[in-house]
Amino acid sequence: MEQTLAIFKPDCIERKLMGKIITMIENADFAILDIKMVQLTTTAARAFYAVHKGKPFFEKLIEFMTENPILVAVLQKENAVQDWRDLMGDTDPEHAGDGTIRNEFGETVRRNTVHGSDSVTHAKEEIAFFFSRNELLRINPQKS
Ligand code: UDP
Ligand code: MG
Repeated sequence: MEQTLAIFKPDCIERKLMGKIITMIENADFAILDIKMVQLTTTAARAFYAVHKGKPFFEKLIEFMTENPILVAVLQKENAVQDWRDLMGDTDPEHAGDGTIRNEFGETVRRNTVHGSDSVTHAKEEIAFFFSRNELLRINPQKS
């Protein structure tokens, strides 16, 4: 079964939207395999978003992602990567479709409430970025 990484970004935690978004995840039939609060350091945020290094929004993105704790979660279902991106909606809340998280809760193209991996390969890397080998063996016992 496919897995993806979800992040509830600092704006989500600050506005106490965690419960609402977990409900949307559960209603969309994802299993939440693991979930935890993390305070990103600047170094960790720069590493996580390394693909965007040099883009005009990069430094502001790092500032935003480190301003408060985040919640990171491993979501599982058939087609988890694409289904989670569909539930999040477009990066820019103004372009995100009705019923999506970013349409409902996103404030700006930066403060857009949630993150999701963009491919199965990146999902594996992003899950491994936040979850240790021991945690991954616990949620994937068949791989031990
Ligand atoms: N972002 C931003 N300005 C932009 C584009 C992106 O601040 O013009 C931020 C936004 O928080 C976004 C993140 O950078 O979610 C990563 O950008 P990406 O293009 O990967 O969008 P995503 O995959 O999150 O939809
Ligand atoms: Mg992305």
